[in-house]
Amino acid sequence: MNFSADTVLAPPTSSTRKSSGGSSRMGSRHASVRVPRVPGWWRDAFGVFVWSSMLMVVALWVSGGGLQGLGSTGTGLTSVGRLTGLVASDLLLIQVLLMARIPLVEKTYGQDELARRHRLVGFWSFNLMVVHIVAITLGYAATSPKGLWGTIVDFVVNYPGMLLAVAGTAALVMVTVTSIRAARSRLRYESWHLLHLYAYLGVGLALPHQLWTGKDFLTSPVATIYWWALWAAAAGSVLFWRVGQPLWRSLRHQLVVQEVRAENDRVTTVVMSGRDLHRLPVRAGQFLQWRFLDGPGASRAHPYSLSAAPDGRTLRITAAHLGDGSARLARLRPGTRVLFEGPYGRLHEGARTRRKVLLMASGIGITPMRALLEAMDQRPGDVTLVYRVRSDEDRIFVDELSALAASRRARLFVVTGHRASARQSWLPQHAAHLGDVEALRQLVPDVANHDVFICGSPGWMDATEQAVTDAGVPPEHVHIERFTY
Ligand SMILES: Cc1cc2nc3c(=O)[nH]c(=O)nc-3n(C[C@H](O)[C@H](O)[C@H](O)COP(=O)(O)OP(=O)(O)OC[C@H]3O[C@@H](n4cnc5c(N)ncnc54)[C@H](O)[C@@H]3O)c2cc1C
Repeated sequence: MNFSADTVLAPPTSSTRKSSGGSSRMGSRHASVRVPRVPGWWRDAFGVFVWSSMLMVVALWVSGGGLQGLGSTGTGLTSVGRLTGLVASDLLLIQVLLMARIPLVEKTYGQDELARRHRLVGFWSFNLMVVHIVAITLGYAATSPKGLWGTIVDFVVNYPGMLLAVAGTAALVMVTVTSIRAARSRLRYESWHLLHLYAYLGVGLALPHQLWTGKDFLTSPVATIYWWALWAAAAGSVLFWRVGQPLWRSLRHQLVVQEVRAENDRVTTVVMSGRDLHRLPVRAGQFLQWRFLDGPGASRAHPYSLSAAPDGRTLRITAAHLGDGSARLARLRPGTRVLFEGPYGRLHEGARTRRKVLLMASGIGITPMRALLEAMDQRPGDVTLVYRVRSDEDRIFVDELSALAASRRARLFVVTGHRASARQSWLPQHAAHLGDVEALRQLVPDVANHDVFICGSPGWMDATEQAVTDAGVPPEHVHIERFTY
């Protein structure tokens, strides 16, 4: 390959030292965490659950006389309004479940994919809710002497729970509008996130009108049980996994900052220690949401991946200074209390399906890859790490990666250089005359037989994913963690 010699760092040599099983800081400091596989059928099972729930809703609507209602314009509109309202509610609750941090769901999809699905389901649910409101109103107006405006006033004033539903709808409209890409890109992340929390209020306020006036909710015992179970599952999951468990774990493990050190002037590593950390089910490659209690602004959580394999006594993160939240890590003092949520993410050994593994990182995406390189079960030559950086100054963990690669007998390539300008590529400009797949095969000739883990900047990840799939790696063997949603 035509990468200049200094871009390839520490290729394996036959003289590299084998992991010594205890004394070396590299290669063996991690606690032996049992890493169960994430069965591929979980994904199918969740898909079946979601589609079944919608089928159930349609079946309940049919059994409640929904089809008969389609006979005339007025009752037809009302009936369509009922159906769309029910499906919208169902999707709204599925949306809540998707973001409730349910461990099985988290492990199966990973938070970035869940966020994308949540967004897709959210827009569908919102559109159906709009159809519901319009169709129900027109349907009632068509059969009422009060006319359109009289019906609207009647709904809001006289129907139980409807005023709350209007307030809930306003909250959901605000959340949806601010989630449209053009609007979201104009908002600071924390402002968008704060507004987004109003979705819970919106969902909560919509419940009473479904309970008190929703025909399909009340007429059949099956419908009542179904809806109560879904509402209870959504509320219970959020309370348990988003509130209760994080509080319990933070209290139990009493994390404090132990050490803060600069990797360079734009990247900081923070090491935390705590109680009984060997009992925290966290794996190399995963991330947690962190709150450092160091003053104003501490209530806002930031996700950072572990940059070292957990050893049962400490947890370590490494963050690039992007904005206020990440830059303040450099000013943390030892002893600062830390609250956390997690662990989350599916970029861990449990997602692995093959013996041979290719880890591909760019920029700060090296953090989970460094931890994986350290922790993965591997024979000499099983694991290859390709680390893409813009310049030598941007490299971090230089010595650690070399030492890890040597002790674990892994192959390490650092590919340096500014990004290719003419096309989207995982390669730097000076290597862009090579095809993306060709270059990949030069580094890892049997890449098609690998599981591939990818983490880095968004465009680079897309190009890398494309290159590995074009090189013959089936999508189910490609594992991705995005640092931006
Ligand atoms: C799963 C995951 C793992 C990550 N791991 C690392 C890591 O190991 N090292 C590292 O340097 N960075 C990591 N990040 C990115 C890191 O969370 C953001 O860079 C950081 O939160 C930015 O906050 P800020 O206040 O410094 O910057 P801001 O200027 O407030 O935000 C910059 C950008 O970061 C993103 N961001 C900010 N806050 C959050 C949040 N709470 N959740 C999701 N995205 C956010 C937004 O896209 C925002 O536009 C990870 C992100 C995710 C989603």
